[in-house]
Amino acid sequence: MRTQTIRIAHLFPELLNLYADQGNLAVLTARARARGIEVKVVPIKLREPIDYRQVDLIMLGGGSDREQRVVSEALASYAPDLRHAIEDGFPFLAVCGGYQLLGHSYELTSGELLPGLQALDLVTKAGTSRLIGNIAIELPATLKLARSTVVGFENHIGRTEHAHQALGRVLAGHGNNGVDHAEGIFLKRVIGTYIHGPLLPKNPHLADLLLSYALAYRGDERTLEPLDDTMEWLAHDQMLARLNVARKE
Ligand code: GLN
Repeated sequence: MRTQTIRIAHLFPELLNLYADQGNLAVLTARARARGIEVKVVPIKLREPIDYRQVDLIMLGGGSDREQRVVSEALASYAPDLRHAIEDGFPFLAVCGGYQLLGHSYELTSGELLPGLQALDLVTKAGTSRLIGNIAIELPATLKLARSTVVGFENHIGRTEHAHQALGRVLAGHGNNGVDHAEGIFLKRVIGTYIHGPLLPKNPHLADLLLSYALAYRGDERTLEPLDDTMEWLAHDQMLARLNVARKE
């Protein structure tokens, strides 16, 4: 079955929208359209229900601790369906604050505990300093994409720990906690990451992976035809060079 339209639910855009996460949506839309697939972005405001039959991919962006507290208070009603959807292979992109909220909890500097969606087995606790700067990671070897690196920008005080497959190994920057060299999480069709930038403009391989996931979830296993990504890889490689990371294929 060939999908005509990919429907992306953008969760709580009025609160979680830090560092141009909107750019991730723009990239997904442009790359799908270049393949003749329409994209419909469905903004879901906090407390509005998600109809999983009507969407193919969920995006949850980053936010300040203050905004995360507001979101956290309303998460309980989403948790059971969302856990079930993730278990069922529903594609999901969660960035920074959104990534933290997929886990059990986020403990703020004050000691206050913000409950998360408990969809993934991860915990986050604020450290004493922010982890800020450009970042480069190497994806797991099993993910055979056009490139094995992902680049971007991170800015978080939360330190995340989990025992699952990371999205990547930190080559430069901080990642989940600045200690164990793990960055993000990669589980089923969920990509969780601290990488903003926004993430997708300089990482077209990741954008296409998410589009393929959205198609595959609806039974469309087509291979996306390659696009001319000269500019994207130039930006990607410039970031690697700035971080003194050797280019990897
Ligand atoms: N408020 C969270 C932190 O500082 C997440 C920040 C973000 O989304 N960039 O860790």
